[in-house]
Amino acid sequence: MASAHVMILPFPYQGHVTPLMELSHSLVEHGFKITFINTEFNHARVLQALPKEENNLKGIDLVSIPDGLCPSEDRNDLGLLAEGFTKVMPGHLEELIREINKKGEDKIKWLIADQNMAWSFAIAKKMGVRIACFWPASTACLAIIRLIPKLIEDGILDEKGWPRRDEMLQFAPKMPSFPTSQIPWNQIGDPRGQPTIFKLITDNNKYMELAEVTVCNSFYEIESGAYTLFPNLLPIKPLLPDSKFNKPLGLFWPEDSTCLDWLDQQSPKSVVYIAFGSFTKFSEVQFKELAHGLVLTGRPFLWVVRPDFITGLSKEWVDEFLEANKEKCRIVSWAPQQQVLAHESVACFMSHCGWNSTLEGLRNGLPFLCWPYFTDQFLNQSYICNVWRNGLKMEADESGIVSRERVRDRVEELLTHEEIAKKVQELKELAAGNLSIGGTSYQNFKRFVNLMMGE
Ligand code: UDP
Repeated sequence: MASAHVMILPFPYQGHVTPLMELSHSLVEHGFKITFINTEFNHARVLQALPKEENNLKGIDLVSIPDGLCPSEDRNDLGLLAEGFTKVMPGHLEELIREINKKGEDKIKWLIADQNMAWSFAIAKKMGVRIACFWPASTACLAIIRLIPKLIEDGILDEKGWPRRDEMLQFAPKMPSFPTSQIPWNQIGDPRGQPTIFKLITDNNKYMELAEVTVCNSFYEIESGAYTLFPNLLPIKPLLPDSKFNKPLGLFWPEDSTCLDWLDQQSPKSVVYIAFGSFTKFSEVQFKELAHGLVLTGRPFLWVVRPDFITGLSKEWVDEFLEANKEKCRIVSWAPQQQVLAHESVACFMSHCGWNSTLEGLRNGLPFLCWPYFTDQFLNQSYICNVWRNGLKMEADESGIVSRERVRDRVEELLTHEEIAKKVQELKELAAGNLSIGGTSYQNFKRFVNLMMGE
């Protein structure tokens, strides 16, 4: 059986690029040739963030197509971005496939695209390219999306995706329950973009039928409820142990690996790791309150503060804070998160509950402090706090702020919580079981590879 040339298309956000890059590395190990498509905007960032020695990604060709936005437009505005790329990307994708195929020997045989980019399946079909769908978030979230027609039929949603009434939803036992107000596509920050996003989601729902297989960024045991609803979905995670994972992941910011040396100097299970993914922003008031709260814990802490995490905070304030707390505090603009979470000094993970972070913390046996921001993060929080029970909510007071005392108390509560400590260990073992021969994800990945190698 011959391995094939595979084209990979992520949704142009960090939390979508990372897991598809991981999948790309695993496919390269099975002899596949990968052409990985970023938007031009992200491509430039990825190249800039790549450490020099890794510029040549063995077996993976990084290519780019435009996203339809001007360089200065805000790509964190989901509605604007979706409007831009749905107009221009289909044409560019078609042209790219044609160009590559024209060269002769290495024709594109498969397209693996993010389900959020399932419009691309129509192009692939037209060009005789076989189609695999990749779902990057929780399978529970995909289940909600697949159930949209039923939710409309049952009068829970209107035709535009807005809830008709307040109620709790739970589709199967062992699935997270959540209020209709937290449906992911209504939680995108700026509601003006919701109609575009909802249309993209419902269109993709239809295009998804063109795929021969859907693989999920998850594993069976933590989402068994969702797989009873959709048994044909193939969960394939984890693919590799985090501690050994040091391949380039298509990051948009350069990693500051010096924090690993700092972690080496801390006691085992002592450090609070705080990271809110690639999107979340904080107000100045909340930022300072969290900073003071972390100091009050008396524990060492490693905090990821992206350059765009907060606006308006004076450099003097940060410098003074760092100077006053230099014994205990380390702030970096972007961490090698998978290696940080696998480090023995880390005690817990204060997280926005993005799905990748959720999985990465879980598989490394870390308890969570949940601080969701938007989209599916509330659903993931519900998994953590209500289904798996491996973490606690942060929760703001009436003023909308999580106070410094709250931060201190929650960290203490989490780190002395015996049931949570037991749960995190169980979940870590379940994840590890999927890495080895006999694990469901291991077998699913083999099935997937065999399908792609076949004629
Ligand atoms: N990440 C990282 N370094 C950081 C913060 C995050 O490498 O300092 C990675 C993290 O490991 C995860 C991804 O960025 O794989 C973020 O994805 P997630 O789904 O957690 O959140 P999103 O950014 O999509 O909100």
